[in-house]
Amino acid sequence: MISFGLEEDQQIIQETVRKFAGEELRPKMRELERSGVPDALRRRFDETGLGLEEVDLPTAVLVHEELAFGDPGAAVALSAPYDGARAIAILADDSQKDRLANGTVAVCWSERKAPLEGFSTVARRVGGGWALTGRKAFVVGGGHVDRHLVFAQLEGAEGWDGIGAFVVDKGSPGLKAGEKHALLGLEAVGAYEVHLEGCVVEDVNRLTGTGEFHERVERLFARTMLVNAARQVGLARAAYEFALQYTQERKAFGKPVAHFQSIAFTLADMAMDVEAARWMVWRAATQLDKGSWASTVAAAAHANEAAWRVADNGVQLLGGAGYVRDYPVEKWLRDTKALALFAPPSEIAELALAGVELGQPVSTGLPSSAIQPFFT
Ligand SMILES: Cc1cc2nc3c(=O)[nH]c(=O)nc-3n(C[C@H](O)[C@H](O)[C@H](O)COP(=O)(O)OP(=O)(O)OC[C@H]3O[C@@H](n4cnc5c(N)ncnc54)[C@H](O)[C@@H]3O)c2cc1C
Repeated sequence: MISFGLEEDQQIIQETVRKFAGEELRPKMRELERSGVPDALRRRFDETGLGLEEVDLPTAVLVHEELAFGDPGAAVALSAPYDGARAIAILADDSQKDRLANGTVAVCWSERKAPLEGFSTVARRVGGGWALTGRKAFVVGGGHVDRHLVFAQLEGAEGWDGIGAFVVDKGSPGLKAGEKHALLGLEAVGAYEVHLEGCVVEDVNRLTGTGEFHERVERLFARTMLVNAARQVGLARAAYEFALQYTQERKAFGKPVAHFQSIAFTLADMAMDVEAARWMVWRAATQLDKGSWASTVAAAAHANEAAWRVADNGVQLLGGAGYVRDYPVEKWLRDTKALALFAPPSEIAELALAGVELGQPVSTGLPSSAIQPFFT
């Protein structure tokens, strides 16, 4: 059965988060851009239960679209710590899930200096645990959350088959926040370097091993792609609706600029982009919930392109007003670029999609030596 409607409880959740985003995020987007998300706002978000609740993916994408419609930066800042806890839940075994998959979590994957395969951050065996040493970059909430999910190269094991995931609690000796990154867009997220200097983690806080571990990373990245695609839909909708209103109010040469054919056609293109991106995300959410990620990579690749086009047109249709900070469209253009770089960046979604179409063995997860000789 094909259904294009929402269930009643989904409508209620959508309305709740739309109200929160409309009242708490959109009016404060410039302030949040400067100051980041304050604790009081985080608490109000927590009170809605929208970050912590274990909702299914078709419902989660509704939440992420609405939050990003309010403000993409705040949307990431508010939800990333809970997405981090879900990442632990995906990678952990059953006994670890209850103990570790809670609180706010920063995902420490990226590095400025990485080897050809795997990570430069290393995990060395010490007694009944591991000592982590290295530097992670671009970590949302890094050093400021309850837990860090750190990916590292296991001592003596090379490449992507030799990596491990570790949970490091706040205040652990040897872990500290480094420099805060100055960003082009999405400033509200607060992204930091994370320094690990012989930070000791007990064996029970290492999340599983190889083999099945790869499949879990694949699931984690597919989910991240989908959530991010939903954010791109929210951002694109925001830019489209703003341009739609502005071009009807702004008059030039005797009529609203929306009534010039070139502007009207651009608005129609923007509407199509938003609508198509949303349907692709919704469909992908139902498929991914059943374990298939092929629609997710298509939705993610398309949402990144569609949001860029819409945000770019948003600036263009406002003319000079599009380029000044009195209006939000310039911000959405900067923000959409950041979302397209998120783990994994849009090239990886396109690579995975091309692999599906060409019948090649690809994954949304770790790079595989099997695919690189094909896609050169
Ligand atoms: C605002 C923001 C917040 C972020 N938050 C986090 C966070 O919380 N935690 C975290 O760990 N990271 C975070 N990141 C980092 C982000 O996940 C990475 O920047 C992203 O995964 C790309 O990795 P990279 O920067 O190492 O790029 P590189 O891997 O150096 O890639 C450079 C270019 O090559 C392309 N490329 C790389 N590999 C392939 C391939 N196999 N096939 C085709 N193309 C390829 C990439 O798409 C990119 O265009 C954040 C980034 C931003 C901008």
